Amino acid sequence: MGYRWVRMSSMKVIVCVKQIPDPALPGELDSSTNTLKRDGKLILDESDSYGVEMALQLVDAAGGGEVALVSMAPNDEMSGMRTALAMGAAQGLLVSDPALAGSDALTTAKVLAAAVQRLGGADLVLAGTESSDGYTGTVPEQMAEVLGLPSVTFAKKVTVDGSTLKVDRQTEAGYDEVTCPLPALVSVTAGVVEPRYPSFKGIMAAKSKPVETVTAADLGVTPVGWEGSGQAVASVEQAPAREAGTIIEDDGESFGKIVEYLETIKVI
Ligand SMILES: Cc1cc2nc3c(=O)[nH]c(=O)nc-3n(C[C@H](O)[C@H](O)[C@H](O)COP(=O)(O)OP(=O)(O)OC[C@H]3O[C@@H](n4cnc5c(N)ncnc54)[C@H](O)[C@@H]3O)c2cc1C
Repeated sequence: MGYRWVRMSSMKVIVCVKQIPDPALPGELDSSTNTLKRDGKLILDESDSYGVEMALQLVDAAGGGEVALVSMAPNDEMSGMRTALAMGAAQGLLVSDPALAGSDALTTAKVLAAAVQRLGGADLVLAGTESSDGYTGTVPEQMAEVLGLPSVTFAKKVTVDGSTLKVDRQTEAGYDEVTCPLPALVSVTAGVVEPRYPSFKGIMAAKSKPVETVTAADLGVTPVGWEGSGQAVASVEQAPAREAGTIIEDDGESFGKIVEYLETIKVI
């Protein structure tokens, strides 16, 4: 894909925000495809609220700039994007097209990469590590490949020093310190910042912020549909009910039983 990144005097961050059915509601599966029905209102995936917050903080730290959003969702649904706009993002680009139903992670990555380009590129693109509904945890890395950008994953802290990105990348044992040049694409680990609550003023302002809606054809991406998708949900089962915990009565010596239990699950 040929394009030119536009470097701004201030920082421009684009955040990928997936809009998902409210996890607090029971949800319903489409029996023919084993995927979640997504024809009602969709909300901002909590996984992506961390990227939005981090983007707002980075633009503040840079002394100016803009946070923009890209999302792919059915039925022109932008309720979740409005939440991110109410938090402080300035504008959004929504890709909504029935032909994209059944898209696999690679097609989603191509669509979102083309959406980033349509917004003129960015100094930094942020995404969640994995979404909360039917996740693959692979979209950000595939986007980076399509865009030809360095990809840094599992970021728990991100700072920008001139044109260099510094990331604390979470590992099982602690974290690695990673640096790379901008522009780059970073996936952010959940829980690393405290997403702000949209203020009343922010909610009102979000109603008039621009969100352009485009189709796959507008972006020059060829949909693969259910048939051409490289992934399928083979089967779905109820999650096992949570088992009751073990209750240890405190008889003055019960700490020994707790230590023993913690040793068996290798916590200590
Ligand atoms: C008409 C239509 C119907 C769809 N139906 C379904 C469905 O039934 N089930 C389903 O799970 N998905 C559906 N999608 C969305 C799309 O197919 C998925 O986003 C995609 O398959 C990969 O998501 P993932 O959860 O595996 O990404 P992951 O790799 O787990 O996500 C990591 C991060 O990538 C970014 N990201 C991923 N997907 C999107 C997105 N769509 N928009 C913006 N950012 C994103 C987010 O930052 C996310 O935190 C539909 C889309 C359309 C247009």
